[in-house]
Amino acid sequence: MSRDDGVYQHYIDGEWTDGTGEETFVSENPANGEELGEFRRGTEADVERAVAAADEAFEEWKELSHIDRAEYLWDIYHELKERHEELGEIVTMECGKEISEGKADVTEAWHMVEWAAGDARHPKGDVVPSEIPSKDAYMRRKPRGVVGCITPWNFPVAIPFWHMAVALVEGNTVVFKPAEQTPWCAQILAEMFEDSGVPDGVFNLVQGFGDAGNAIVEDDRVDTVLFTGSAEVGHKIAGKVGGEPGKLAACEMGGKNGIVITENADLDVAVHSATMSSFKTTGQRCVSSERLIVHEDVYDEFKERFVENARSVAVGDPLDEDTFMGPLIEPEHKEKVSKYNQLAKDEGVNVLVDREELDADEIPEGHEDGHWVGPFVYEADAKADLRCTHEEVFGPHVALLKYSGDIEEAVEIHNDTDYGLAGAIISEDYRQINYYRDNAEVGLAYGNLPCIGAEVQLPFGGVKKSGNGYPSAREVIEAVTERTAWTLNN
Ligand code: NAP
Repeated sequence: MSRDDGVYQHYIDGEWTDGTGEETFVSENPANGEELGEFRRGTEADVERAVAAADEAFEEWKELSHIDRAEYLWDIYHELKERHEELGEIVTMECGKEISEGKADVTEAWHMVEWAAGDARHPKGDVVPSEIPSKDAYMRRKPRGVVGCITPWNFPVAIPFWHMAVALVEGNTVVFKPAEQTPWCAQILAEMFEDSGVPDGVFNLVQGFGDAGNAIVEDDRVDTVLFTGSAEVGHKIAGKVGGEPGKLAACEMGGKNGIVITENADLDVAVHSATMSSFKTTGQRCVSSERLIVHEDVYDEFKERFVENARSVAVGDPLDEDTFMGPLIEPEHKEKVSKYNQLAKDEGVNVLVDREELDADEIPEGHEDGHWVGPFVYEADAKADLRCTHEEVFGPHVALLKYSGDIEEAVEIHNDTDYGLAGAIISEDYRQINYYRDNAEVGLAYGNLPCIGAEVQLPFGGVKKSGNGYPSAREVIEAVTERTAWTLNN
């Protein structure tokens, strides 16, 4: 039973358990405040038990073939597909994303599972010619051991699988600590693992808060920490793990992403790209764009059209297909977005759209307790050292930055942030596009597309403050395997 006395439990060593703590917490629908479920809050002792179970299970799990390990994941792949609609609605109810985005979260999860399980037929290693003809030389990969997965709330199904699918197929065992805001989605993932019949201890779920995440990071038996979340937490984790020999942390973090719109951009594409990237999921995705760097020749027309969209995008019930933007995740986050809107005003920007407080008739009936906010758009000096144009807000807070020179100037403004996650260029000139491709300081670059989206066959990760050199998706393999260079004399 996953639910005891109405309170959802942890899943440790193949059993549902209350764990050692007395405390519980609730998951709430951010669109209406409705309670979705009550969950046990994990303690250090619960993490300790989960890591011990994962450590023990590793010995047998690593002996299975890639193909045998993948069998369990194929079951999960089919379940994700069969329950697409239902799970998409649950994602939307728990994290407030528009329904198309809720379903896309589930789609992305099965893409990752399919990639990892399919890859079991292509175990990774290289045969290389030796310097000495009588020798065979090759590189083999081995699983690292226990992998701790610590995930954010904004992709509650996809991101856990971005971490766990490859880790498990490669022979690692997992302790999963989801975000406190999305325990229901995590509960469902754990039920899927239970239904797949995966051996006890191979997958473990500890629900809870940052202290449980920290216990995973600090446990000596955890070999790899796979973290996705804010730079604030990620750099703390990378710092702690970096000092421990043999341990590794792969951290995927936030961004302050820009879109460059040049003088010869197709403005239909530019307006669409910026609107999607800045406002979809209410600006709460790591690749959302908060900086639009626009050439003076097209600035006025772009501004007029983008501002019109910002004024008119439909904010509302995320389950309604016509809604463009849902709510923010929680009151604390609404307060943060509001503080940054105020900071922008204090820093002297020219506000173009301020829908921070929605009109009463914009809020759908029965959703008065939702964490609503609309777009906030402003013009700022592209070269000024403002906090509002350099720090991640993670909301529909967007700066228009005008430039007048060439592509070199635009990219200099684009790169003028400590972050380096994602960015885009909208241009019809291949010289400009190539210059951007070669000089934009980002891990994910988009050309003539919305600055949104991921494909599992590509690495997903940032540079500078946004990453620490271990991207996710296909490249998770680097963080969950060790390489042995093997030479044999014949
Ligand atoms: P967050 O506050 O950093 O939390 C992420 C996870 O870390 C949560 O499970 C959290 O637990 C846990 N945690 C908090 N403190 C910890 C500690 N001291 N030790 C170990 N774990 C700890 O991020 P979020 O608000 O959930 O997500 C939004 C952020 O994620 C944004 O910055 C966004 O850009 C970034 N993001 C990046 C990517 C990417 O691929 N680059 C993708 C999605 C999101 P609690 O839930 O209890 O706080």
